[in-house]
Amino acid sequence: MMTDAAARASRTGKSLSDLRVSFEFFPPKTEAMEETLWRSVERLAPLAPDFVSVTYGAGGSTRERTHATVARILSETALKPAAHLTCVGATRAEVDAVVDSYAEAGVRHIVALRGDPVEGIGTAYRPHPGGYDRAADLVGAIRSRHPEIEVSVSAYAERHPESPDWSIEIDNLKRKVDAGASRAITQFFFDNDLYSAFLDRVAAAGISIPIVPGIVPVLNFSQTAKFAEKAGASVPDWFAARFEGLEDDAATRQLVAAAVCSEQVLDLVDRGVSDFHFYTMNRADLVYAICHLLGMRPVKPAAPDAAAA
Ligand code: FAD
Repeated sequence: MMTDAAARASRTGKSLSDLRVSFEFFPPKTEAMEETLWRSVERLAPLAPDFVSVTYGAGGSTRERTHATVARILSETALKPAAHLTCVGATRAEVDAVVDSYAEAGVRHIVALRGDPVEGIGTAYRPHPGGYDRAADLVGAIRSRHPEIEVSVSAYAERHPESPDWSIEIDNLKRKVDAGASRAITQFFFDNDLYSAFLDRVAAAGISIPIVPGIVPVLNFSQTAKFAEKAGASVPDWFAARFEGLEDDAATRQLVAAAVCSEQVLDLVDRGVSDFHFYTMNRADLVYAICHLLGMRPVKPAAPDAAAA
């Protein structure tokens, strides 16, 4: 019997094996956070994600921690890491040196971003004197120094908060693609119609790289809503209503979050989406459950070679 996800995927001419996921983590600050991160990585790794990405703190504040986390993923797991990198607060030479060190360490995927203004989201962005101006410049630099490195970039289903109109937004994405980006990952969104409308705009501009939806499981509604406001992601009233009155009820919140997120993801499968990027917040449970609903099952380690036994 087909699972729900398999039936949905096949309605769009896809099979479950076409579905791919990637997971985003942030570099831990403390030993306790490091343990949480690694427990999550170990739990999610058997789902065989396409790649796992590690964010870069605002202003490059996590440079060493991002690098250390990526290096540990490379040395201790079979996962393919993607290192996030921004243009903020560094000269071109400094950014190039980080790229070179990733290349040397065996990293073959970078998520290239401009980053947020040093004074915080909402203030004017000023490129570092002698630094890369925007993500498109960083993409070009990475690809020309290390053509072996795959580059992903950001995209915004509801426009970046600094974009005055759609033509500037789509032109910016096109510049990043022309500079060598081969995948865009979206800021999270809760209304799938906005994502579908964005895909139409992207296609109309002749952009054909995959636009992978960024999915955020809502672990804490008020925190997510605050972050969404800063990031320019709208929170529809119907979405907020689902978490109403659950502030002091963690168990129900968790169940509702799983239901809401799986509903979003399965609706995207209905719309023909096959790749999903999960903002894990370094927590595995919700993401694991949603991947399970997508039909993913842990890949068992290969049996020992009989001849060698
Ligand atoms: P860009 O693509 O360079 O664009 C930024 C803005 O400038 C857009 O509004 C664009 O339209 C406008 N623009 C570009 N070129 C021009 C031009 N020539 N003239 C006028 N306007 C122009 N931040 C972090 O600090 N660390 C991370 O690890 C991180 N990871 C992220 C991962 C994803 C998937 C996403 C979606 C975002 C992430 N961010 C991260 C946040 C990101 O850094 C911010 O959203 C930042 O404000 C913009 O970066 P960008 O790469 O999208 O910028």
